[in-house]
Amino acid sequence: MTRERKPAEDSADQVIEHVRRLIERGELRPGDRLQAERELAVQIGVSRPTVRVGLRALAAMGVVRTRHGAGTFVTEFPVLDSEPLSFLAALHGFTRDEMYEARRILEVGAAALAAERATPDQMTAISEEIANLFASMDDPQAFLVHDIRFHRAVAAASGNPIVASLVEMVSVVSYDQQRKTAERATGRNLRDAAEMHRRVYQAIRSRNPEEARGAMNEHLLTSRAYQAEEEHSGRGSTSAALTSPADDRRSDLPRS
Ligand SMILES: [Zn+2]
Repeated sequence: MTRERKPAEDSADQVIEHVRRLIERGELRPGDRLQAERELAVQIGVSRPTVRVGLRALAAMGVVRTRHGAGTFVTEFPVLDSEPLSFLAALHGFTRDEMYEARRILEVGAAALAAERATPDQMTAISEEIANLFASMDDPQAFLVHDIRFHRAVAAASGNPIVASLVEMVSVVSYDQQRKTAERATGRNLRDAAEMHRRVYQAIRSRNPEEARGAMNEHLLTSRAYQAEEEHSGRGSTSAALTSPADDRRSDLPRS
């Protein structure tokens, strides 16, 4: 049988709609593997390149993830891909002040919720990052990785998947902004920062939402001030970021 397709019928939107219907009907659940490309192409009635375009769009939305050699899977956790925000940051030049302001709006509330809701496992995850922060005070890049992971762990402990995925998304862009100047952090600033993270953790552990809120707010305000210092101290000198081997932020920040 020959199938004449008008261009309008062969569109990636059909692939997206198809997957959406399977999800809505409960036929695809988090963690499930999608059919192979060629089967999808036959089932939907589009070409394989179109299936590929559709899957790429779904991956950009954070709905599926392709694992090399294993196939395409529905994502297990709600994670918003940070690529759109990174693009917008590059296009419109988000300032660091805007970034810290957005983080305070999200994370101060997340810390308060974490104090109310963190499970024992989540509490452990947060405390591990505190230990990692104190262990990496002589390595500013490693410190930054654990810093961001601490914030993600707190957001996850908020028990609100929307807040957690927004923090995930923002944290990648924030990490990109910070790592360029992280080398210039002074030992004293890192010690202070580690101490402030510990205060947030202690408030969460003692189930005190108001204290958690206050500690997180103060931490992000101070952290912004330290970063401004690092930016300032770097003017006119060679950028440490240029010599940083850690150029692939995704390998630096594995999903936890
Ligand atoms: Zn921090």
